[in-house]
Amino acid sequence: MLAELKGLNEECGIFGIWGHPDSAQITYYGLHSLQHRGQEGAGIVVTDGEKLKTIKGTGLVTEVFKQDEMTDLYGKAAIGHVRYATAGGGGYENVQPLLFRSQSGGLALAHNGNLVNANALKHQLEGQGSIFQTTSDTEVLAHLIKRGGNLPLNDRVKNALTMLKGAYAFLVMTEDEMMIALDPLGMRPLSLGRLGDAYVVASETCAFDVVGATYEREVEPGELIIISDEGIRTERFSGFQSRAICSMEYIYFARPDSNVGRINVHSARKNLGRWLALEAPAEADVVTGVPDSSISAAIGYAEAMGIPYEIGLIKNRYVGRTFIQPSQSLREQGVKMKLSPVRGIVEGKRVVMVDDSIVRGTTSRRIVNMLRQAGATEVHVRISSPPIKNPCYYGIDTSTREELIASSRSVEEIRQIIGADSLSFISNEGLLSAIGRPDMDENRGQCMACFTGKYPTEIFPDTVHPHEKC
Ligand code: SF4
Repeated sequence: MLAELKGLNEECGIFGIWGHPDSAQITYYGLHSLQHRGQEGAGIVVTDGEKLKTIKGTGLVTEVFKQDEMTDLYGKAAIGHVRYATAGGGGYENVQPLLFRSQSGGLALAHNGNLVNANALKHQLEGQGSIFQTTSDTEVLAHLIKRGGNLPLNDRVKNALTMLKGAYAFLVMTEDEMMIALDPLGMRPLSLGRLGDAYVVASETCAFDVVGATYEREVEPGELIIISDEGIRTERFSGFQSRAICSMEYIYFARPDSNVGRINVHSARKNLGRWLALEAPAEADVVTGVPDSSISAAIGYAEAMGIPYEIGLIKNRYVGRTFIQPSQSLREQGVKMKLSPVRGIVEGKRVVMVDDSIVRGTTSRRIVNMLRQAGATEVHVRISSPPIKNPCYYGIDTSTREELIASSRSVEEIRQIIGADSLSFISNEGLLSAIGRPDMDENRGQCMACFTGKYPTEIFPDTVHPHEKC
């Protein structure tokens, strides 16, 4: 479904390249392909081997970077970031990559994820004299690296990383090297690729396809990769643990053409739809999916049920952030901006509407109502995630526990609220069977915390939920 409708938002996407004369431009295209991971701000830092230069700003990638300014951003390597920011957190100073300059040189940082012990570390660092320039948890890493004394940078970075808890994929760049790190549980996706002799790294592999790079491998949890003109080497900052990659990447966030943890996202979603059909079949005439992220699951559901998949809902792609919002009265008159039913498809039909998740329930109610107004005789809602009952502390803004409709209501109560003829969610077991890796632990390599409440890391009393962050 549409992120801005749902109240479920990714926090960031990162891209980096080392060893290419057009590194800034390539990073621009890489970030553009990761735009779905964050639309509030974007930035690129480039190195020419002597100094770091940056362009960053609030807005979409196409709004932040201008053609004439990009020509000044010349260098052999670059890191970039797209950011989603919650209310109050979208200020320019929090747009990444963060860039710190000191007499010993520059340090740029780009981060996807959320640190659950950021507040505790901040208090500690402030007590020791650190002054923070931003309200972003990412800055904590910079201070920890800086406090590492005279050790080589890779050791300072490793020591700093061992102090962090939570979900993180980090890119760290100085004038003459780039470092790539993934948290010990591998909660966020991060892949390594090649573009000729250059190395590329991205949150999602769709960025590789866009810039013409080839996929090499996943960055391993607890791994620190160091790339410079001397080549690439890898070190570890934590022991091997079972992975806990975010299930919502497969269900909702990642682009269908990406492979996350070597699993294609479209195929994973189709599998979710197939499992959902096994667990919750419906007697219906057509299956439709809520665009864009639910379409793959709807196709899987339709295939498994032997019911035709049809485009029953259309997304208007041209509703930008500056679009004039209709007043409440116009909304009540039925002005539909972002999603419209296809009357010719749903009229007189029993419809299965597949969606990837229900967060607050308001959008689901609106869509069910829309389908009925367009003439659907029955609307059966099938959800390709289990009920989201718990907030995420790892970089996904899932709303607060109170706002999550499933945190305090049964499936039947939710069905009544959204006005569907029937409602089913995929089970936890169905989700793990559809996308989990059988060779891994009971969670088969997935984080399931927003469904189960079993957080894979410690959660501290002052852990900031992304919805309240900044
Ligand atoms: S709690 Fe949910 S949204 Fe957050 S990382 Fe885990 S699976 Fe993803």
